[in-house]
Amino acid sequence: MSVSDIFQSMEYGPAPESEAEAMAWLGSDRSFGLFIGGAWTAPGDLFEVRNPARDQSLAQVTQASAGDVDAAVAAARRAQGSWAKSGAARARVLYALARMVQKQARLFAVLESLDSGKPVRESRDIDVPLVARHFYYHAGMAQLADSELPGRVPFGVCGQIVPWNFPLLMLAWKVAPALAMGNTVVLKPAEYTPLTALLFADLCAQAGVPPGVINIVTGDGAVGEMIVAHPDIDKIAFTGSTGVGRQIRAATAGTGKALTLELGGKSPFIVFDDADIDSAIEGLVDAIWFNGGQVCCAGSRLLVQENIAEDFHDRLRVRMDKLRLGDPLDKCIDVGAIVHPVQRDAIARLVDASRGDIYRAACDLPAGCFYPPTLITGLSPADPLMQEEIFGPVLVSTTFRTPAEAVELANNTRYGLAATLWTENVNLALDIAPKLVSGVVWINSTNLLDAAAPFGGVRESGFGREGGWEGLAAYSRLAITGKPLKPVPPVAAPKSAVVTGLDRTAKLYIGGKQARPDGGYSRAVWSGKGALLGHVGLANRKDIRNAVEAAQAAKGWSRTTGHLRAQILYYIAENLSARAAEFAARLSAMSGARQAQAEGEVEASIDRLFHWAAWADKHDGAARGVPMRAVALAMNEPVGVIGQFAPDDAPLLGLVSVIAPALAMGNRTVTVASEPFPLAATDFYQVLETSDVPPGVVNILTGSHTELAPHLAGHMDVGAVWSFSSSDLSQTIETEAARDLKRTWVNHARNRDWTDPSTREFLGHACEVKTVWIPFGEG
Ligand code: NAD
Repeated sequence: MSVSDIFQSMEYGPAPESEAEAMAWLGSDRSFGLFIGGAWTAPGDLFEVRNPARDQSLAQVTQASAGDVDAAVAAARRAQGSWAKSGAARARVLYALARMVQKQARLFAVLESLDSGKPVRESRDIDVPLVARHFYYHAGMAQLADSELPGRVPFGVCGQIVPWNFPLLMLAWKVAPALAMGNTVVLKPAEYTPLTALLFADLCAQAGVPPGVINIVTGDGAVGEMIVAHPDIDKIAFTGSTGVGRQIRAATAGTGKALTLELGGKSPFIVFDDADIDSAIEGLVDAIWFNGGQVCCAGSRLLVQENIAEDFHDRLRVRMDKLRLGDPLDKCIDVGAIVHPVQRDAIARLVDASRGDIYRAACDLPAGCFYPPTLITGLSPADPLMQEEIFGPVLVSTTFRTPAEAVELANNTRYGLAATLWTENVNLALDIAPKLVSGVVWINSTNLLDAAAPFGGVRESGFGREGGWEGLAAYSRLAITGKPLKPVPPVAAPKSAVVTGLDRTAKLYIGGKQARPDGGYSRAVWSGKGALLGHVGLANRKDIRNAVEAAQAAKGWSRTTGHLRAQILYYIAENLSARAAEFAARLSAMSGARQAQAEGEVEASIDRLFHWAAWADKHDGAARGVPMRAVALAMNEPVGVIGQFAPDDAPLLGLVSVIAPALAMGNRTVTVASEPFPLAATDFYQVLETSDVPPGVVNILTGSHTELAPHLAGHMDVGAVWSFSSSDLSQTIETEAARDLKRTWVNHARNRDWTDPSTREFLGHACEVKTVWIPFGEG
């Protein structure tokens, strides 16, 4: 093409980035072993890693064996004690890693693009700078962890498994907070894209990372399974597909391994009719064609207001035709290759089976593993393509008429990772953002990420947050571990019973009403001295369903102000105080506690209600300082309906300690009372009845913990389940919770000190953090 031709067509010329340095680093034989204990093992059972854009072999990488995983875990274990000693020393290493990433930025970016097929413009300008930012931020966290997170300690050895779409960035998201808190890691990159993790390992020694602190094992899902199953790993952090996340939840159930899951999404991109349309279209290009749509938080579901839909789709098609596909190392291209032919074929299968109107961009499709930018319209909200993650450059679109309908459509998904909304009306934006069920909301922007801003999902997009203080907390636990609990059986019926007074059977408390148990069974509650204290109903699965339904119907509670919730909690305390003597007598009769001890428990319960009333209007969100012209609001939202198994070791204080924080943060509860000592709970609901607690906000059941646990944990309308029971329900709850990936907080049959409100822990478990990004400035 001559210069005058170029002036005529205004066509870009290629601007290729050199691959020479990256190929030189790969070396002549291009075979890699594993990075264990600060050294490389000899290459073992090898598999090939290819450049998807050119369909060329890049390297041979080792499929780790069980012995290799054992060796990596052992090296991490050996290194952990001394690594955890000094936050200041860790800060220096993390700082050195940040500097190392910056010094080798171009090498990392080119290698990443060769390996994954993403445009070098993205790996150079987005992935690698974010990686460096992550290590800088967490150098600071390491420095501050001791003073700012007192009483928290690292888990120990963390197993970390990452996907192929942001290989180095996901490594940084996992490694930096784990190391900052004093953990050591065994990380497995995805089998398609292990190369930048290997480069990172190679450069670790230069940054002064002690041997064994970072171990990299390569291989496929089988190696991931070995990490998940390894008995000497304390925490698993996984980013990947929802299906594998579900398997990992089930595999770790009851083992006591901590778990965070960052999974898939089908994130809505909502355009209101007053939006700046050109900006919204550019935003959409970033939302769905950034990294070829192989992005967990991709805005893959366009919802556009009906009155502008035709015009919007027309302009979008024009823009799509201008996208440039090509070699990822060409700095002028917009969309690179799909990571692997297997993924491209999966995308093609999904699109080919669609009954919608398919528009493929009129771009030249290069040879290699490419798929054209695609728009599909005319689908119903229930269509598989509106519901399932495609994980490629394919946008599905539908329309809405009103803001309320937009919210309904946006939330009509099993996922809840991210959402974007586009409008010039700030009132509308700030009204809609809290109504979207997702971990992140971008207003008039999309795919903004930063180390200070928590990222993560709700529903089947997983649980846990990466980034910010929340991300750090996910790599630490309380220093104190409770003592083992043994199941406390109810007091058995005495040989010669002392029965005085009128028969009293406490019913269940559902939807603000006392309800007979569905099964029609009840049991006697005896004192240690053989006196009949009353009867309680035995709840069954149907009662759980009714209680969850009542709690769901009480949604309004989650929209009340902290001020109102505080007043109601104070009022509960006031009414409990009026009946203090009666409650103390009951506690002492049930558990045989001395009078003074029982009175102390009632006083502590009143105090606990005051504590959570105080917090109800003070657990403020935070504006996170992000390095761009935007404010990122980390907002604390209620989880929704929380299922709870109350503790047996403090029948009233324990009950109040689990209900009050949930209420204070705007949740509704289905609480199963202590099994051996249930009457404190059935008396307590009488206090609730007189304290203006709206019906359905607290529901109290009595019955067998082991029988009720699978039903409560398996219920799809319950957002989280907590267990402090003396019966070990942990495995049952975590296994059942795998179905819809609800959050769990279980005690693994260990006690807790109920005299301590454990404020931060309860706040963390009672809230979901939603990060709302609001860019500012003109132009
Ligand atoms: P994947 O789940 O197939 O694989 C992810 C990782 O898990 C890989 O390293 C893989 O080898 C490993 N793995 C596979 N089977 C395993 C098993 N049974 N046990 C343990 N490990 C196993 O996902 P993928 O196809 O590599 O990545 C795409 C998915 O990742 C998408 O669903 C995407 O939404 C999700 N993702 C989520 C986030 C997030 O932060 N939420 C970020 C990036 C990607």
